[in-house]
Amino acid sequence: MEHIVTGFVSFRNKVFPRHRKLFAELANGQSPEVLFITCADSRIDPNLVTQTRPGDLFIVRNAGNIVPPHGGMVGGVTASIEYAVAVLNVGHIVICGHTHCGAMTGALDPGALEDLPHVRKWLELSLAAVEVVRHAHGSIGPEQLRAVTEQNVLVQLQHLRTHPVVASRLAAGQLQLHGWMYEIESGDVYAYAEERNAFVPMAERYAAMLKPEGAAHGADV
Ligand SMILES: [Zn+2]
Repeated sequence: MEHIVTGFVSFRNKVFPRHRKLFAELANGQSPEVLFITCADSRIDPNLVTQTRPGDLFIVRNAGNIVPPHGGMVGGVTASIEYAVAVLNVGHIVICGHTHCGAMTGALDPGALEDLPHVRKWLELSLAAVEVVRHAHGSIGPEQLRAVTEQNVLVQLQHLRTHPVVASRLAAGQLQLHGWMYEIESGDVYAYAEERNAFVPMAERYAAMLKPEGAAHGADV
């Protein structure tokens, strides 16, 4: 804990003064372009991997980057989606899963979650992902963790479409959905390409968007 407290002091005294103008602007409001939904896993840093700054991403995190389908459950995820889309008018929603996901390991083997009733119940929202992979492979096991994690991103994108505020903006062409997969060990991010029904390297998926020298604008906050 000590390094976290000293880190905060260092931020306040050394980092904050360098970005005083940015934080002064942010004090007047936020206008993020993207709602970024990812796992609560400590190994993911959305601002680091996207090289974005405070104010750029509206972030929702939970175990397994899960989006409950509309109607079944009203909670923080549902309310945050509604706010991001209806009030902040985000133009994009990213659901970002990751390799070695503990939540997806749990979804693969719910029997091991006997002592974690809330986790077990929560991960039932990923059951469709497990069943898709089980049906395709004829069996299910730890070796299918990556496939289940990718499929889970697609299932949660489907859930996202059931939210009225999302459905209405999609129909109006005002919102785009993205499925990503972050590989912790390599730093690579793969993005779902609908026309290929596969996760492909970001540079391929967004080739038209990327400038030759790379699109990152850098952040050292
Ligand atoms: Zn995870």
